[in-house]
Amino acid sequence: MIEDQTEVPFSPTDPFRFCPSDGTPLGEPRPSGGATCPECGRSWYRNSAPSVGAAIVDGDRALVTVRAVEPEKGKVDVPGGFLEVGERPVEGLMREAREELGVEVEVDENPVLLATHTYGPEGNWVLAIGFRARIVEGEPRPADDVAEVRWISIGEVDGTDFAWEHDRAFVRSALQGAPQGER
Ligand SMILES: [Zn+2]
Repeated sequence: MIEDQTEVPFSPTDPFRFCPSDGTPLGEPRPSGGATCPECGRSWYRNSAPSVGAAIVDGDRALVTVRAVEPEKGKVDVPGGFLEVGERPVEGLMREAREELGVEVEVDENPVLLATHTYGPEGNWVLAIGFRARIVEGEPRPADDVAEVRWISIGEVDGTDFAWEHDRAFVRSALQGAPQGER
């Protein structure tokens, strides 16, 4: 982990200055934000990185996780993480649930959260996609970048120290929209 982020030479929202593929200096970006490499001809853009999160609901409670790593270590978020290249969002979420909690989840296909936010001291832009889910196999045990698992009711949502406000709204809407017991 980079401890001193002040040494980072430019913001992640700035255009690329060198081709990430071959290192050739790039010219000024077009108004659209893309810059084309004169050597390999590929165009480079800055984009929000897609991430997926789960509001795992069981009856009138939802599972939240305490972060074991920076950024926002010690604060609360939901299970999930960044998608791998080519990975479908629902499959990425199932993978993250296995890695972080050791459980198999069933995921509702329609997202209930779509939000853009910044992440970490550099201000990297993230596109957060949130799904309602439920555990179909296993008992959640924190692993990977999760320190602790908590089940919270809707009355506890306001008093929970969420790392990101969109997760608070996400968990609240998942609890409000969830039928009791089975879907
Ligand atoms: Zn190039």
